[in-house]
Amino acid sequence: MRLTVLGSCGAWPSAGQACSGYLVEQDGFRLVVDLGYATVPRLLAHVPAELVDAVFITHGHPDHCADLNPLLRARHLRDDKPALLPVYALPGALDAVLALDRPGMLDDAYVLHEFTAGDRLKFGPFRADTRLLPHWVPNAGVRLSAGGRTLAYTGDTGPSSEVVELGRDADLLLAEATFADRVPEDSRSDLSSADQAARQATAAGAGRLALTHLWPGADPEAALAAARERYDGEVDIATGGLVIDL
Ligand SMILES: [Zn+2]
Repeated sequence: MRLTVLGSCGAWPSAGQACSGYLVEQDGFRLVVDLGYATVPRLLAHVPAELVDAVFITHGHPDHCADLNPLLRARHLRDDKPALLPVYALPGALDAVLALDRPGMLDDAYVLHEFTAGDRLKFGPFRADTRLLPHWVPNAGVRLSAGGRTLAYTGDTGPSSEVVELGRDADLLLAEATFADRVPEDSRSDLSSADQAARQATAAGAGRLALTHLWPGADPEAALAAARERYDGEVDIATGGLVIDL
């Protein structure tokens, strides 16, 4: 299983960087997990729009789904349209982004599969176990298994035992860590720190940890240092362009 980080900024894209988006490949199947602001130009550097096989979106915040629109336009506005793109999201999560164009315009570009958090999904070689994680809006963490390897991804989440279950014995936990150690009071239930992500990676027995969704301008070294206090395995910052082969 190959993970390519398209972007990892929390909230908004900083200069030259994109928000959350990940290309996950197995046996030639190309799954895109989240499509935050500015991820599509990075995605297209790796795979043409028409060759994306499926999209999974964790939640409806635009730093995780805004670039679904340009991906669908790139498939719709061409002469030889590819098959409908399967898009998986929680109910209603994509209503706003799918309403950007005139009603019906992109209907021949995608088929929306709305699921309930807790469902087990299947895309190509991937099995996807989903879990509702605490956030301001419903957010589905996902545990992707294929070829005997497992990648767990939190989307955005407050600290929760559900994150530990999501990442249980995963080869890689790709965890939102918006802050290094202190989470502002008004976000404590809904976002995480590198310190919390690392504690949860340890509790889960995850084989490797990648920190993502750092606040624009945050010091990645501070996030790494906070995580290494709490987790003994390999820790990376999921910057755009990072490739991890599991
Ligand atoms: Zn969010």
